[in-house]
Amino acid sequence: MSTRAPITSAYCVELGEILSIAEARRAFFSLPEPRSRFRFLCSNETCRDLITKAEITAVNYDKQPNDTYRMAHFRENPKYAHAPDCEWMINEDAEEIDGKLPGETEGDAFLRRARRKLHDYIDIFDPTTEQPTQGGAPEGTDGGSDVTGGSRGQGIGRGERMSRNHKTSSLERLVECYRQAKLELSDEEFKAMKLKIVGEGEIPLSWYFKSIAYAKVGASNRVIHGGASLIGRYSKGEGAGFKLRFFDWREEKPIFLYVSKEQMSEYRFRRYLDGILRQEDADYFRVFALGELTVSPTGKSINLEVGDLKQLVLLPGHKQAAANVAETASVENNGVTKA
Ligand SMILES: [Zn+2]
Repeated sequence: MSTRAPITSAYCVELGEILSIAEARRAFFSLPEPRSRFRFLCSNETCRDLITKAEITAVNYDKQPNDTYRMAHFRENPKYAHAPDCEWMINEDAEEIDGKLPGETEGDAFLRRARRKLHDYIDIFDPTTEQPTQGGAPEGTDGGSDVTGGSRGQGIGRGERMSRNHKTSSLERLVECYRQAKLELSDEEFKAMKLKIVGEGEIPLSWYFKSIAYAKVGASNRVIHGGASLIGRYSKGEGAGFKLRFFDWREEKPIFLYVSKEQMSEYRFRRYLDGILRQEDADYFRVFALGELTVSPTGKSINLEVGDLKQLVLLPGHKQAAANVAETASVENNGVTKA
């Protein structure tokens, strides 16, 4: 296992901005086709000022997200050297005394080692959606709302590095962190992962996610997730609305997620979302949404209402592949096998 912190952001040469891997993927799929891959350099400015600029390898961001395949991530390209102060290249073990860094508690050290197994992790999530995006922000990025604190390229001291926060308002990035933590960490490590939610406070990461089978009607402050099938597209083109039906039922009622054409056409990343919905070989979609379950006016069904499409993450899945990964159990819990 690497003794270094995972590389959670890199500088995209084409967009001229530091991005997380989830942002890189969204930016890539927001480009019109044919698309060419981006080039990534180290987020540390000193590494980019070297005669041979330090390149970073970005894996799988040019493939659409998937419920069952390897996740996208950044990793070191061993052909390139980094500056001595590069935050990603510090070997933490060299600084440890009895398994702890100066000032760390046992619990801190345990969490730090758990996080090293993840491609990205989030300390703070800001679920508020409406942030005015400046016109100058490059297409395909979050308009600066996704801040990987401390890794924006300024030279970072070693002391400061330890207090660096991984803060985001990107639900997609949070979902990737959650899914990877669930897959890669031991039960004890997973339970130790914490998340600070702006406006709410700190809770275990796992508490922030609720399977739709157990989510309460009326509650809206948790990420509701479950497997669903696409049962309708409402017109042609990337602005078409759509409807998903979940595999789980509540109160003997089917659960739907309906996105109107209007909502879709106003969404900045509709091309990305549309591309995901158009994956012809997808057997189901794993849905993650910060939304509210409401009983429909007729009382015959339940709707998962999502006010802002930024708060919706869809992952196409394949039943065959799902049977082969460790996540099988939770896929089944979401009712995929009943489909
Ligand atoms: Zn570097």
